[in-house]
Amino acid sequence: KEYKTKKPHWLRVKLPVGYEYAKVRKLVDTYKLHTICESGNCPNMGECWGAGTATFMILGNVCTRSCTFCAVATGKPTEYDTDEPRRVAEAIKLMGVKHAVITSVNRDELKDRGAAIWHETVRLTKELCPETTIETLIPDVKGNWEALYTMISAGQEVVSHNMETIKRLYRRVRPQAKYERSLEQIRRTKEFGKRTKSGIMLGLGETREEVYEAMDDLVANGLDILTLGQYLQPTKMHLEVVEYIHPDLFEHYKEEGLKRGLKYVEAGPLVRSSYHAERHVNVPI
Ligand code: SF4
Ligand code: SF4
Repeated sequence: KEYKTKKPHWLRVKLPVGYEYAKVRKLVDTYKLHTICESGNCPNMGECWGAGTATFMILGNVCTRSCTFCAVATGKPTEYDTDEPRRVAEAIKLMGVKHAVITSVNRDELKDRGAAIWHETVRLTKELCPETTIETLIPDVKGNWEALYTMISAGQEVVSHNMETIKRLYRRVRPQAKYERSLEQIRRTKEFGKRTKSGIMLGLGETREEVYEAMDDLVANGLDILTLGQYLQPTKMHLEVVEYIHPDLFEHYKEEGLKRGLKYVEAGPLVRSSYHAERHVNVPI
């Protein structure tokens, strides 16, 4: 209880420094790429960039949506950069990582939701770095299933789509998304034959029962891997943290998720959907 509103010690993180960090910084700048690490003010930059890895965010850095937890700018995107797939693939090759995570903003204004650029980015990365495994953290295609199949058919090993929160909080947290539609997107991804992954942020006022309900719904819709992390307010303008969840409760949720049929659960205060992502590639489909 004492940790309810004051930032607890387990959320302290390393500052970004060192040779590997500088190398990632330089690649991102030289190739004019965006990362969700920076755009989302991720607390793990010291660790991930320090280990030579980052999560690229494609299709620009302006999003058509206005999720109230997210630090990415909302607006009318102007960028449609058909050269971006090449730059992402080359940067991943130069990073020399065994596993790469790619995500994007939502592009609701595009008929194909950005699927052509998504497909090309994964295809080219596989061509340039055949040894590298790939996770794609894809947006809500808003029921455009053709777009979904284009996005997920370029050979990536893991396809994630984040639920972000429990059902009751959808309107407040993801105003342009629908709980049932995101579940359907996961189910269709699974039926397409892909390894499925999703993430939920905790500390927004959800009850334990509501977390269990989300887990059951995800299992029923074919989810393999779930990440659970603490929501952190990126700026004062964003949704407030209701509660800092104790690491013991994260541990409990992990056990509960496995009991309820998930194949892998990554849970902890600093867990983000791309955190320790290389561990998820070998989860059986
Ligand atoms: Fe980037 Fe993900 Fe690492 Fe955060 S956890 S720094 S978003 S790769
Ligand atoms: Fe942020 Fe994604 Fe929501 Fe866009 S759709 S505001 S990038 S969480």
